Amino acid sequence: MKRDYYELLGVARGAGSAELKSAYRKLAIQFHPDKNPGDAEASEKFKEASEAYSVLSDPEKREQYNRFGHEGLRGGSGGFGFDPSIFSDFSDLFGQFFGGGFGRPQSAAGSDLIAHLEISFSEAAFGTESPVTIQRYESCGECRGTGAEKGSQPITCPTCRGRGQVRLSQGFFTMARTCPACQGEGTRIEKPCPACRGDGRVPAERTLTIKIPGGVENGSRLRLSEEGNAAPRGGAPGDLYVSLSVVEHDIFRREGDDVIVEMELPFPVFVLGGEIEVPTLEGEERIAIAPGTRASSEVRLRRKGVVRLGSSGRGDQVVRLTVAVPKSPGKEERELLENYARMINAPVSKKKTFARVKKIFEG
Ligand SMILES: [Zn+2]
Ligand SMILES: [Zn+2]
Repeated sequence: MKRDYYELLGVARGAGSAELKSAYRKLAIQFHPDKNPGDAEASEKFKEASEAYSVLSDPEKREQYNRFGHEGLRGGSGGFGFDPSIFSDFSDLFGQFFGGGFGRPQSAAGSDLIAHLEISFSEAAFGTESPVTIQRYESCGECRGTGAEKGSQPITCPTCRGRGQVRLSQGFFTMARTCPACQGEGTRIEKPCPACRGDGRVPAERTLTIKIPGGVENGSRLRLSEEGNAAPRGGAPGDLYVSLSVVEHDIFRREGDDVIVEMELPFPVFVLGGEIEVPTLEGEERIAIAPGTRASSEVRLRRKGVVRLGSSGRGDQVVRLTVAVPKSPGKEERELLENYARMINAPVSKKKTFARVKKIFEG
């Protein structure tokens, strides 16, 4: 006596497709044979649930079933077959059990490679071209990557007939397994190419010219599509990643696209104003300091910074100004400073006290 399909899935007769799917998914995960090896009851439940779902998820079959019950499905071409494609939505389920897609041909891709490249501060700022030498697998020229000896061809795998998978049918449900004869490739090589021993690729050393765009940073990674390892026997090659390290500069520092330069200026320049030479990425530049400039202020040189990655714009150069403080002023300097301090009533130490404080600080 066959159980009612709705009852089996635990849903109401009016259940929508999302509800059906979710009910079935729960049962399929719970009773999947891979999770319950050797358990005949679980296997039976899995079959029943799969059967119920395959009927109720098909509007036409569902209609027939609703009208005529199990009898309604017996006619036609010997009832219904179990269609594994209903699983295609359950990628999580099949990721769990089959370690990959269902019925998808497996073509191994080449692996990615990573190379390291050191560039200077200004190369990072403006971009450059640089050679990088890498060791990688390349497609075998002798067999054009097929792995089969010149003049011969790989043959279609007789075990899986080229599908790369074999299906194990047990009653209603079908499971896919990677073909053990060809490891999923779908082809077999009768006479391996002597140059690559059937691998379809050979090791090579290659120097590539890498175009580095302006604006890259320390730790930036460039991706060169398909410049990684060739895949065995003709799959897609992997990618090459070039990891950049930018050498620190003696004068310049980066903050995003801005270039920072710190400059110490004597106190009178802040008070009286002046003109100074500032290093930029493109040489010295004269800038004016306005009279009455506050200590710890910034002067911004527009578009003298780093190229903005992926655009033609540039950041700024920021000149950070601080007051230069003489560590040990000479006799005359001190006298002048003391006079000035007296004049503006600055609370400075007397000469003797100054010497004592200095002694304390410098040991
Ligand atoms: Zn095969
Ligand atoms: Zn070869």
